[in-house]
Amino acid sequence: MHEVLYYRDPYAREVRTRIVSVSADIVEVEENPLYPGGGGQPPDIGIMEGEGFRAEVIGHSPGAVRIASASGRPSTGDEVRISLDWERRYYLMKMHTGEHVLFRALSRAVNVELAKVSFERPTGSVFVKGDVSPEDVLGAEEEANRIVGEGRKVTARWVRREEIDEDVRALLHRIKDERVRIVEVEGYDASACSGIHVANTSEIGCIFVEGLRKRGKTCEIRFRVAGEAEHEAWRHSTHARLAAWRANCDVEDLPTFVANAMGEVERLRKAVLTLASTADPFVEVCPGVRIAEVPGLDRKAAGELLKGGNGVRVLVSEGERTVVYVASTTVPAREVVEHLTANLGGRGGGGDTFASCYVERADGLRKLICEYLNPPG
Ligand SMILES: [Zn+2]
Repeated sequence: MHEVLYYRDPYAREVRTRIVSVSADIVEVEENPLYPGGGGQPPDIGIMEGEGFRAEVIGHSPGAVRIASASGRPSTGDEVRISLDWERRYYLMKMHTGEHVLFRALSRAVNVELAKVSFERPTGSVFVKGDVSPEDVLGAEEEANRIVGEGRKVTARWVRREEIDEDVRALLHRIKDERVRIVEVEGYDASACSGIHVANTSEIGCIFVEGLRKRGKTCEIRFRVAGEAEHEAWRHSTHARLAAWRANCDVEDLPTFVANAMGEVERLRKAVLTLASTADPFVEVCPGVRIAEVPGLDRKAAGELLKGGNGVRVLVSEGERTVVYVASTTVPAREVVEHLTANLGGRGGGGDTFASCYVERADGLRKLICEYLNPPG
């Protein structure tokens, strides 16, 4: 069986070949350097040139390219030169191989299942199912970079489906073909993969995990390779240093600093809630009338604070606007609210025991309530 060019020589950037057939925008050729995509790797893009025409092409199938845009028209039998966007392709080869190494490193440390991969330039993503901690991912990144630095050979071979060894990573239920391509990182990883890879792990340069995000049971690990990885690592370090220096600590102490700060915030939040629920914020301003000022309350929280107690209790809450909540066991709460909106502007309503309104002005509010409920004389 004739092996297609992108497998036979993944480093072939350019080829002179002949057109076998042309059908609409699909051009079948004798030799095709453009990978049609698969295994998370997007199709290659390139240029096809011949006598009187030039076209931008995209890998379509093992033996064909698809024309994206063209000047002139190719014909069957034409001699053509196809050159691929090598810089992009080589980056994707490094990224794809980097993904094999990174995932193997992670799966050695924790029980994870590969859900899917997607490669773009400059960032690729590995989606894994399993309980993955930030420490697991950073540990895997470190090991993956060690494998990269060791310069291990990367090879590909075809085997029959039933010949696949147990230690080969393969989602057999997804593989339909009888022949399966196995990509091996010497002494480290073997997996069924149709993508294009580098010949040696040292070509990857370095792997940098730039993002980790959990969505339900799936975890997305975003990474870069080669020079793009180095640049991104430097950019991240800038942010880390800025945060550390603002916190007046060293970068390596930042995780502890953040953990402590988050713990402190949680502790304070609980303390505030406890305090608000145990301390009585109401102050008696005139006989039978108690007022409290608590900013930023919503209706539910106001209701909680107004629970129980006798007489008229008024909660004034400053937020986007001033809201007044009234609870009463004596006069109808609704009437107090109506008196307030009539004098201060605003709107509101309610029943006998509970009513609320917003007011346009809050000045003289206490006086207004006291005069209404305890008229002089
Ligand atoms: Zn692969």
